[in-house]
Amino acid sequence: MDHPRMLFCDRFGQIYDEPRLAATARLGVHPVVPKPEDWIPLPEGSDIFSLPDRTPVGWLEDRGRFRVGSRDTWAVSAFTPPGYVRSHLPNGRPQPSADPLPLWAYSAAGWRDDGFYVTAFPIEQNPKGDLAEFDEETIRERVRQKLDEHPENRLLNHLAHCALQNNCLAAKNYFLGRWEAGLPVSRECPSSCEGCISNQPAESLVPASHARIAFRPTLEEALEVIVPHLEEAPLAMVSFGQGCEGEPLCEDEFLEELIREVRGRTSRGTIHLNTNGYAPAKLQRLAKAGLNSVRISINSVRKDYYHRYHKPQGYTFEDVETSVQVGVAEGLYVSINYLIFPGLTDHQEEIDAFTRFLERTGTHMVQWKNLNIDPDVYIRCLELESLSRSEGMRTAVDTIRHRLPQVRFGYFNPPREQFEESVKTDWTK
Ligand code: SF4
Repeated sequence: MDHPRMLFCDRFGQIYDEPRLAATARLGVHPVVPKPEDWIPLPEGSDIFSLPDRTPVGWLEDRGRFRVGSRDTWAVSAFTPPGYVRSHLPNGRPQPSADPLPLWAYSAAGWRDDGFYVTAFPIEQNPKGDLAEFDEETIRERVRQKLDEHPENRLLNHLAHCALQNNCLAAKNYFLGRWEAGLPVSRECPSSCEGCISNQPAESLVPASHARIAFRPTLEEALEVIVPHLEEAPLAMVSFGQGCEGEPLCEDEFLEELIREVRGRTSRGTIHLNTNGYAPAKLQRLAKAGLNSVRISINSVRKDYYHRYHKPQGYTFEDVETSVQVGVAEGLYVSINYLIFPGLTDHQEEIDAFTRFLERTGTHMVQWKNLNIDPDVYIRCLELESLSRSEGMRTAVDTIRHRLPQVRFGYFNPPREQFEESVKTDWTK
């Protein structure tokens, strides 16, 4: 199999391939030539991005060396749909004038005669991530119906905006009456993650891609949305902690009351929390109220790297680890939302540290998520410049899978029907 060819883009957005150069990539700061088998045809639902003011770098096979493209051209990258792990970063060399890139997960891209290729591999194939399952006309119709039924419900109006304007799949699921529906409640957060998609400092050159919910719903508004969904939807799940909110544990008292009310009305479906895990005691109270599962976001299990990215205020990485342990002890199904970055996540020291973390906490599942951020911003933020070359994301995933076969790997929050056996909790008590 041949190497794909390098792509580049002109200032008008036209993309070309360079037949004399093979496509290259990066692991952290290290330029690499991915193996031919590291590339897959660009999956349905992907996007191709130009990287403004990043000069493309190719590989001269016959000379065995890298070659920097023309400064008038820009590098090209790909963004894969849900369910895929990117294995390499794009190799675009930033020019001094380069502004930070918007908050997307950039993968290396190349060209073979049959089309675009990307350095990625599937981690979970699930209709939840298949865009063909989301018929826009049906969604618009269902939004109209719901708003006609409950015109005063602010949460419903917010979800309608998420479904129609923000392309939020969890909001779309709600209107389609199935699977995992998102329920945002919180405006606050005790972290300042470098790549937060709902809050960026005023002086940032990178805008937040989602507007945070501007109100806390009332109990009645939330119940009107949650209860019918849990009672009727196939594989029903409602989840707190969405892209359009802060940290849901900041609204722990409200959530505790809400979960008790919901469980007083229906025992069906999964109540789930996506969180940064900053407050183990709050998580414990929600578990006792009737929460079924939790997903905790971590970019690294090494404290320095965790703190440089998440910038926690008033808590530490130890609190996050305690939350994982509390979740397991309380009978929740616990996933780590592992915010991956080729060059760090696949570094041998991180692989070993993450293995130990999963073992000592008893985590049930790892969700491998491509971190949405400009790679060079992340490298500077975490001070990764001096890190030695990493093993590759496939090696990282395979190594941990081999060491800990009991840990489930995937991308999506599983519904209760798929994990009840593994936590063996009787939620009907
Ligand atoms: S924990 Fe979530 S809401 Fe809070 S700063 Fe980080 S990304 Fe943003």
